[in-house]
Amino acid sequence: MDTASLSGKELAAAINAETKARATALTEGAGAPRLALVVPNDDPASAWYVNSLRKAAERLGIACDTVDLGPDATVTGIRAELAARSADHATDAIMLQTPLPVGVSLDDVSSAIVATKDVDGVSPLSLGLLAAGLDGFVPATSEAVVELLEHHGIPLAGRHVAVVGRSNIVGKPLAQLLLAKDATVTVCHSRTADLAAVTATADVVVAAAGRIGLICGKHVRAGAVVIDVGTNEAPDGTITGDVDAASVRGKAAALSPVPGGVGPVTTALLMRHVVTAAETGRSN
Ligand code: NAD
Repeated sequence: MDTASLSGKELAAAINAETKARATALTEGAGAPRLALVVPNDDPASAWYVNSLRKAAERLGIACDTVDLGPDATVTGIRAELAARSADHATDAIMLQTPLPVGVSLDDVSSAIVATKDVDGVSPLSLGLLAAGLDGFVPATSEAVVELLEHHGIPLAGRHVAVVGRSNIVGKPLAQLLLAKDATVTVCHSRTADLAAVTATADVVVAAAGRIGLICGKHVRAGAVVIDVGTNEAPDGTITGDVDAASVRGKAAALSPVPGGVGPVTTALLMRHVVTAAETGRSN
């Protein structure tokens, strides 16, 4: 079987074109939408990601402040910065970068981001709104998986989707979004007894575990669709996914590439969220 490649580039370009037009309209009114990137680390991968977000924002006409708190930032310090940006009328949107300093968990700090500026949907209020099926910002990576599937015309209603990974920023919110699309969802994780036995029954497998090559041919039934969320640094420095593409290709009906699949859609959706936050925040 030929395995189709589920590129995210076209979809990202379409989202970005709309975002740019909305950002321009805001700029002509009360000023460019403004995103604060709060960075409590000195991690090279995080620095690379921050740089790519800044470039994406710049291309779309979104202003970006990087707030460098360093790896020694405390819970109190991070919360204070997030609360200050939440109250600041000039800041429309806030993103907290990971990894967090040793001893600090996302749960310790994320509630300090006001939900109306929480463009990556990490605060307990945003996650609770999603679980309840109410409006709020949704974690962009999870939303990107659903948008990528829909863009490529892959039906979800009544289909069995196996999500591999149960983090609060990818796996769990994705399960909620898929349920809202009427999929039958199984969430697998590091303690799932026989991963292949579960995933091989699914119509769609989403790999979001952060483990290079975790999902291979035996995990996928013939004709299934596979989405690779993994963004892992291989020993040779290249970015690689969670799916062993060589063994899945030829068996799956479709597979999203890494890079060029979920990643560009995630960035595009984050920027769309920034513009939405500015539009709604300024009209209130
Ligand atoms: P995480 O480490 O917080 O969570 C990993 C999850 O995978 C856990 O729930 C764990 O139970 C599960 N897991 C680990 N090993 C497993 C195994 N052997 N079998 C089954 N389940 C297993 O990671 P995360 O933040 O959710 O990120 C997951 C991946 O997605 C990473 O590669 C990350 O880089 C990537 N990611 C990509 C984007 C993007 O835009 N493409 C955005 C965010 C995260």
